[in-house]
Amino acid sequence: MKILLCNDDGYRAPGLTVLATALRELATVLVVAPEQNKSGASNSLTLDRPLRLNQIDAELYCVDGTPADCIHVAVTELLDQPPDLVVSGINAGENLGDDVIYSGTVAAAMEGAFLGCPAIAVSLLGPDCAHYVSAANAVTELVRKILGETRREPWLLNVNVPDLPVAALKGTRVTRLGQRHKAASVVHQIDPKGRRVLWIGPSGAGADAGPGTDFHAVEAGFVSVTPLHTDLTAYRMMEGLTTWLGI
Ligand code: MN
Repeated sequence: MKILLCNDDGYRAPGLTVLATALRELATVLVVAPEQNKSGASNSLTLDRPLRLNQIDAELYCVDGTPADCIHVAVTELLDQPPDLVVSGINAGENLGDDVIYSGTVAAAMEGAFLGCPAIAVSLLGPDCAHYVSAANAVTELVRKILGETRREPWLLNVNVPDLPVAALKGTRVTRLGQRHKAASVVHQIDPKGRRVLWIGPSGAGADAGPGTDFHAVEAGFVSVTPLHTDLTAYRMMEGLTTWLGI
């Protein structure tokens, strides 16, 4: 089995290293990850300049681009055949609810799914991120269980792991995405030249975070596994919209 591993925190990130080591117990692992931290890059592709692909080690490459660039380059340029599985992570910090829209971690997995590969995105809850081994364990267990699973459609799983020792995890729950409250306002600062600058503020707390959601599972100490799809169509609105438009 061949696994393509990526992340959005950059190729030097501890979560990536821990996960590569764990997955190499199960499969051949090719790591292609961004040169810099690209958290929040979402699905963006670099289209305004060429990309530089640097080989760091036998099975480790970095790309001076986004997570989606990495998967694209790996599948279309580096590999002769598509990988059996794309894994992205372990991200330093959770990707719950609406986070998946902004996440570069989820985007790398999604790019894999777009290219026809089953894919897993995995994130460890912040802010301390002390237990990468717990997240690595959760992923390897998942991969073991789904080995040999042959589905026609490529699937995409978003996994979030509480920052707890392995023995303290309660189990695994299949969840749906919750939703956050509106993000906090921007943070104002003055730069060294006396000019005003703005930082994007922290994301909001869980709003739709009740039983069944990813927020609820991780809060209770469970590994959360949410199946995702990329069809953003608001099906429930289609009929109403047809009436509004009188068509
Ligand atoms: Mn990140």
